[in-house]
Amino acid sequence: MAVDLIFLPLIAVLGACAGSVVNVLVWRIPVMLAQPHNRDFNLCLPRSHCPQCKTPVAWYYNVPLAGWLLLKGCTACCQQPLARRYVLTELGLAMLSLLLACLLSSEVLLAAGVLFSALLVGLLLTDLEHMLLPDMLTQPLLWCGLLLALSGAGPVSLESAVVGAVTGYLVLWLLYWVVLLVRNKEGMGHGDFKLLAALGAWCGWHMLPSVLLGAALLTLACMLAARIIHQRSLQEAIPFGPGLAVSGWLAWLFAIHQSLVW
Ligand SMILES: [Zn+2]
Repeated sequence: MAVDLIFLPLIAVLGACAGSVVNVLVWRIPVMLAQPHNRDFNLCLPRSHCPQCKTPVAWYYNVPLAGWLLLKGCTACCQQPLARRYVLTELGLAMLSLLLACLLSSEVLLAAGVLFSALLVGLLLTDLEHMLLPDMLTQPLLWCGLLLALSGAGPVSLESAVVGAVTGYLVLWLLYWVVLLVRNKEGMGHGDFKLLAALGAWCGWHMLPSVLLGAALLTLACMLAARIIHQRSLQEAIPFGPGLAVSGWLAWLFAIHQSLVW
């Protein structure tokens, strides 16, 4: 266990704060990419406001989880229901942080794990909502993975992390070109190459086959579920990023288990 039991509430609060930051990133980054010349819209501006009537939100309603409870799931100004995704993201990251605190053995790994989880949740949600894996999230994920390996505190060596990053990128880049040449259509987006490169840096090259197999099986299961529940066509495009994110998160924990750092 990375911390004493007494610190677990603090870990949960930090996890919920990470979830709140993820909510901001998932909402603002796609808008920033769609309006590259709009200098009035960035990660901080305009201040958070009601989506219906544009009234600025008081600071205490932005406190993770507590804000939702105070508002009872509706906006204070015009009583419109708030999307449940916001509170679920904060709650989910609080729970993941607690789980990591129980599983991991050092504070450095715990901090890295919370950051890894937050960036992966951000990428998962952005890809689900916008079919987009922004560089603003995949690049920090890659660099943080390489820095963790450089520090020696992670589960893989720097050599394995660098080879993992290069191999992860090249494998999906090659697959993309094979699909494009054979079927004359794009099988995936460039963000998928970058996400697998980042996962290679965090998990090492030896985990890449497992990450890819897990991601493919998860994506296939989601396609079949969408077909059965929502009658969606199997030909319809489905994002690959969420499968990669979930599979990569599990592979990182397994890589730590293998390296006996628990
Ligand atoms: Zn309002």
